[in-house]
Amino acid sequence: MSKRDYYEVLGVDKNASPEEIKKSYRKLAMKYHPDRNPGDQVAEEKFKELNEAYEVLSSPEKKQRYDQFGHAGMNGAGGGFDGHAGFGGFEDIFGDIFDMFGGGFSSRRRSGPQKGADIKYEQSISFEEAAFGTEKTVEFHKYENCQTCNGSGAKPGTSKKTCAHCKGTGEVRYVQRTPLGQIVNVKACDQCGGDGQIIESPCPTCKGKGKERKRKKIKVKIPAGVDNGSIIPLRGEGEPGLKGGPYGDLYVILRVLPHKIFERDGYNVLCEIPITFVQAALGEDLEVPTLEGKVKYKIPEGTQSGTIFRLRGKGIQNPKGYGKGDQYVKVVVETPKNLTEKQKEMLKQFAAESGEEIHQNRKSFFDKVKDVFGVQ
Ligand SMILES: [Zn+2]
Ligand SMILES: [Zn+2]
Repeated sequence: MSKRDYYEVLGVDKNASPEEIKKSYRKLAMKYHPDRNPGDQVAEEKFKELNEAYEVLSSPEKKQRYDQFGHAGMNGAGGGFDGHAGFGGFEDIFGDIFDMFGGGFSSRRRSGPQKGADIKYEQSISFEEAAFGTEKTVEFHKYENCQTCNGSGAKPGTSKKTCAHCKGTGEVRYVQRTPLGQIVNVKACDQCGGDGQIIESPCPTCKGKGKERKRKKIKVKIPAGVDNGSIIPLRGEGEPGLKGGPYGDLYVILRVLPHKIFERDGYNVLCEIPITFVQAALGEDLEVPTLEGKVKYKIPEGTQSGTIFRLRGKGIQNPKGYGKGDQYVKVVVETPKNLTEKQKEMLKQFAAESGEEIHQNRKSFFDKVKDVFGVQ
C-alpha cells in the first residue's frame, strides 16, 4: 500500500501554518481516537496514520525534509511510530536542553494504541516428552479486557468524557524562561493521567481499570524434538493492549528435566551401560535401552571398556527437518568385587594361562609414569 500524503492525511494544504496543522490534527485525532471507536480497525489505522503525519509536519526540521523529499526523505522512520502521538520531536530537543539544567524533564506521552505486554511462562517437560512431543495445559494469571465494560473502564451505558483540563490532548504545555531563552515545557496532564479522557462513572466490575485479572488455561502443542530452552510462541495470548492496541504474545519456555539413563547432545542420545568383564571378554547380545524400548545389540569378543557403539536413527526427531539423531552407547566394564576364594584362584589360573606376571607388569607401568612426569 502506498503511503498517503501527510498534508492530505491531516486535511490541510501545503501552506498551512503550524496552528492550522495542529488544529486539524486535534479535530481528526478526536474523531479517530481508539477509545471512541473500540474495535474499529479502520479508525485505528487512520489514527496511526494521523499521528505519523503529525509527528512529521509538527517538527519544523522533519517537515522541511518531507517537503523536499517526500516519504523517501523520512528514512523509513514513518513505519516506526507505532501510532504513538507525535510530540516526540519537540520533547527530544527540549528534553535535552532541559536535562542540562537538571530539570529532569522527560514526560513522554504515549497516547496511541499500544500492544499489550508479552508473557513468559516456563514449562517443565520430561526427556521423553521433549523427544516425542506432547500437549501441555499451561495455567497462569493474566489480565483480560473487562467483559462488563469491554475494556473501556466506563460503566456500561456511559462513556468517557474529554478531559477539560487538557482538552483531550493528555498533555499540558507551558512556557518557561531559562538562560537559553524560552522553553516549551510539556508534561502529562495530571487530571487525566495523560489519557485525555476522564471516566466519570467507572465500571463496577473493574473499577475503571478496564481490565480484570483472570486465571487462564491454554493448551500448548509441543512438537517432537524440542530441547531445553526451546520457546513456543503463541501470538495474541499475552496481556491486552492499551487503547485498542493488539494483545501481547505468550512465550512458553521449555525446561527439559534430566533423564535417569539418557543424556542428550543435539538430536543424539547418549547413555552408558555397565557390562561385566566376562561379557566384555566373550562378547554378548546386550539388551540396550532406547527411547523406544529395549533393542538387542551384539558386542564382539574382546570389547574394551569405554568403547562407544552407535545405534542409527535411535535418537531424537529434528523438528525442523527430516531425519533423526542416533543413540551412542558407551560400555563400561566393571571390575568384579567381593570375589570368593574359588573365583580368586580361578583368576590366578587365568592369569598364569595368559602368561601374565602381575607384579612385574605393574612395576614397568609405574616406571613409564615416572618417565612421563619426570619423577625420580
Ligand atoms: Zn469494566
Ligand atoms: Zn487531561
